[in-house]
Amino acid sequence: KLVSKDFRKEDTVIDVKGIKLGGGNVVVMAGPCSVEGRDMLFEIAGRASKAGAKILRGGAFKPRTSPYAFQGLGEEGLKYLREAADAHGMLVITELMDPRDIDLICKYTDIIQIGARNMQNFRLLRDLGELRKPVMLKRGLCATMKELLMAAEYVAAGGNNEIILCERGIRTFETETRNTLDLSAIPVLKSLTHLPVVADPSHGTGRRDCILPMSQAAVAAGADGIIVEVHNCPEEAMSDGDQSILPDDFDILMKRIDIIAQTI
Ligand code: PEP
Ligand code: MN
Repeated sequence: KLVSKDFRKEDTVIDVKGIKLGGGNVVVMAGPCSVEGRDMLFEIAGRASKAGAKILRGGAFKPRTSPYAFQGLGEEGLKYLREAADAHGMLVITELMDPRDIDLICKYTDIIQIGARNMQNFRLLRDLGELRKPVMLKRGLCATMKELLMAAEYVAAGGNNEIILCERGIRTFETETRNTLDLSAIPVLKSLTHLPVVADPSHGTGRRDCILPMSQAAVAAGADGIIVEVHNCPEEAMSDGDQSILPDDFDILMKRIDIIAQTI
């Protein structure tokens, strides 16, 4: 298998415009769940980059449970992402849901996010294999680590080796948290693959009070990065407000994970 440690012993380091993902760096991606407007995005991007985040996250096409919930700003949102990231020297990561949007998303983003719900959309995965653009593949809600690795294999088989795996929590019987962040997936995946592995404590727990401890734990477990939802007014967020942290708390988070990153 192309993504396995047997095929390649050294860690893959993905260089995206000078930002290196993999090989022991801890890269932080931060931003709102959804791009809701230009002003909020610029404010959050400014605070996130000042705190040390290198990549701006934000959804313009949102995979919502209800078809009546906010679906994202579409291309307008993509434009704001590009502008806000450029203004603050950041890269963009945003979700692609549909093969028909590939050209549109690629025009604005540096890394393509494939959401948990599309991890086994094999047609989409094959199309990503044809691209020369890094892809972050999020673990499916009920996917095993092997299934995540096989999804990555679809992309790699097409010739695109720039794949980042993301542990974002799996569905278990527990209801106190939105999902169960599988921290053990970090060391286990890293023993099975040379690809970078990052963690998403926001979707992994669904709880603001869990973001700091789980970010620290993910870095301690060897994650190559984290992706965190940050919002300037979480109570009014159009999606995932309960798990979004304020910029002030993101400042603290960045300081804490830096201490851990330096000791492992
Ligand atoms: C997101 O990153 O906002 C998102 C929808 O994530 P997931 O696909 O992991 O649910
Ligand atoms: Mn979200």
